[in-house]
Amino acid sequence: MACKTPDDEYTVVEELADVADALTEIRSHALLAIDCEGINLGRAGDLTVLTVATPIKSYIFDILKLGKQVFDDGLRDILEDKTKKKLMFDCRGDADSLQHQFKVRLSGVLDLQLLEVMHRTKSPSASASATSGSLGSTQTDEVESVYGFLRCVELYIDDKKMIDEKKRGVRLLQDDENVWQTRPLSDSLKSYCNVDTSGLFSLFEKLKGDNDDALPRLRVASERYADYFRSMPVRTNGMFENHALLPLYIIPDEGSMSFPFASTKCVGCNRLFPRHEFSKTQLRKGQQKCRVCKKVKLQADVQKNREDNWARDEFNHSPPLYYSSDEEWQTNGYYGLQYSDNYSDNFGDDYGDDDW
Ligand SMILES: [Zn+2]
Repeated sequence: MACKTPDDEYTVVEELADVADALTEIRSHALLAIDCEGINLGRAGDLTVLTVATPIKSYIFDILKLGKQVFDDGLRDILEDKTKKKLMFDCRGDADSLQHQFKVRLSGVLDLQLLEVMHRTKSPSASASATSGSLGSTQTDEVESVYGFLRCVELYIDDKKMIDEKKRGVRLLQDDENVWQTRPLSDSLKSYCNVDTSGLFSLFEKLKGDNDDALPRLRVASERYADYFRSMPVRTNGMFENHALLPLYIIPDEGSMSFPFASTKCVGCNRLFPRHEFSKTQLRKGQQKCRVCKKVKLQADVQKNREDNWARDEFNHSPPLYYSSDEEWQTNGYYGLQYSDNYSDNFGDDYGDDDW
């Protein structure tokens, strides 16, 4: 059997004259995989590459060369078509960029970062911190972590070639933060785009399970995830926006498709929550933070405390050991920041204190 060549696996679309043929191929599939690349993806960053994969082939649209016209030429219609299911992995930054820079309201997303949380928290082998199906819609002290794509590929797909190509791309991003604005795109980066999208089909197969309830819940959750950044009047890019925890009230609880009425704003993330999310003390002081923001603040305090201790210890020149090797820390600088589940042990009863 002949080996697959890059030409079989992906096509780079960099001329407007080639867009129509690519879109015709893409339209013939009901399930797609989407991923954007760029610098600081979001409304204030630069989206320079958008990859749309079918189960057969990836189409790498060079947005830097094609410009906004490619969206008017048909790409917008596909991205906004809710009947076209789109596998993505953390769609929040992509959706924010597409909405505010290209007037594209991304729809029809199935976000596999969320599906992985749903899978992990109902699995018998799930971590001890799993909340047994309660993902923010029920009052508990627990919040869930979200994983990066590479970690999920390693956990669930275990495809060495895919992992190696992904890691090679990560190294390129480490070496040059402007790599997505450099042309021509290297073969390694094209492979990276291909792996980031085609790998989503494999991950979806592993995670989707046979629970009929899961996919409708995932659709609801993914729509909320897509709205997460793009609906914010202002992006702060502060610690309450950028962390590796699952925001509350994104995934409906099992057996449910809705969320309770929310009218009280968290002073950390500025999202609205039911009033019962907060304690009377918090509310009286006007310092109400949701469980996720409380944990983010706690983690930041613990990290600062440790850094202060390191600074005081002139004999200890070791680097901090709790940065993940996952790709998001290296490319975005925040997602890979992993915190021990035992931080609350360090702070004892202070965790959950109302006085932050
Ligand atoms: Zn909050």
